[in-house]
Amino acid sequence: MTLAPAKVACASGPRIVQERGQREVFCGLTGIVWLHRKIQDAFFLVVGSRTCAHLIQSAAGVMIFAEPRFATAIIEERDLAGLADIDDELDRVVTRLIERRPDIKLLFLVGSCPSEVIKLDLSRAAQRLSQRMSPAVRVLSYSGSGIETTFTQGEDACLSALVAQAPRAGANQPPSLLVVGALADAVEDQFRRIFAQMGIERVDFLPARRAADMPAIGPNTKFLLAQPFLSDTARALEELGAQHLPALYPLGVEGVDDWLGAAARAFGVSRERFEAATAAPRARAQKSLERLRPTLEGKSLFFFPDSQLEPSMARFLSRELGARLVEVGAPYVDRRRLAEELALLPPETPIVEGQDVERQLDRVRAARPDLVVCGLGLANPLEAEGFATKWSIELVFTPVQGYEQAGDLAELFARPLLRRELLEA
Ligand code: SF4
Repeated sequence: MTLAPAKVACASGPRIVQERGQREVFCGLTGIVWLHRKIQDAFFLVVGSRTCAHLIQSAAGVMIFAEPRFATAIIEERDLAGLADIDDELDRVVTRLIERRPDIKLLFLVGSCPSEVIKLDLSRAAQRLSQRMSPAVRVLSYSGSGIETTFTQGEDACLSALVAQAPRAGANQPPSLLVVGALADAVEDQFRRIFAQMGIERVDFLPARRAADMPAIGPNTKFLLAQPFLSDTARALEELGAQHLPALYPLGVEGVDDWLGAAARAFGVSRERFEAATAAPRARAQKSLERLRPTLEGKSLFFFPDSQLEPSMARFLSRELGARLVEVGAPYVDRRRLAEELALLPPETPIVEGQDVERQLDRVRAARPDLVVCGLGLANPLEAEGFATKWSIELVFTPVQGYEQAGDLAELFARPLLRRELLEA
């Protein structure tokens, strides 16, 4: 174990190739599926089309809710003259919703692609509704449109909207740690315990579980990103004076060590105290990885771009489990927020930013990797061609951050390989 800072990306790190073409990635509306579970008194109202409603329902449809916390206000096609009516309609829908559901304290109006929605000024609508419903309900807006966002960028847009409205902390406030990115409650609780054992007293999470608990932000806020896809949110926090603590992302033992280590250094935690807080869960994580290493060691992996988690997953799988990286695709590579991750990837790893799906399919067919990590739309056809696949959406829906989850994370990749071995036996 070391508290030394992680390496930063250097000129000899992997080369990033950009590709443009047809994409096979979900839009940012998908984020609602995990965000509505995290913020327990929020409601997400998608302003969109029937397609948007179908996407949300099928992505979240496996769960049955007595009172769901998301819905779609379907805007049918109409001409410009009808736009004023849409504003009235939206106000009516929101008023009815809030009357029926007094448990809602934070309402997100979520924009989408249809041209009728693009013409609407949702941020003005949110301001108007917020003024009318304050203080009982706060109304914010963001875009989950497939034109502007891919898959995980919906969370970035949602958290940026929260930061823009967050209470401000003055320069006289004591230093506090902010963990940014939606984490499963169990993972959040584990991190809280470890930070408390390290002696870091003031720790907040964004998003908070309840609307009223959103943290105040100011120059004495130091923040850790729990997810690599939060570039806009990080920028918005920095504009308020908060300081980013650069680190690996908390995936796998090495990632969690470095991530917690960055907080320990920033808050003056002694090496002994850090070790006392982390030794036991680290040992458990290492043990769980040992069990899975034989399944993944030497196996070739190909990542299609989907969640932006790809470089971090690739680092974990190659360094802690001995997997071979054939190609690591990502919809967007933020060189600054991923510097530590990129520096630890084998230098020969091809990193492809963006997507030209046909060319990628040609490359995957030529390479015949042992495992392909890809979106739902590609998984079935690739399975039919004889590839073992892992749905990248599972990496976002499953709690994978932290020591206690390191084994579960490795297992997500090991399972399809084990299944294939059984089928071939
Ligand atoms: Fe489709 Fe756009 Fe709606 Fe997403 S926001 S479901 S891409 S129409």
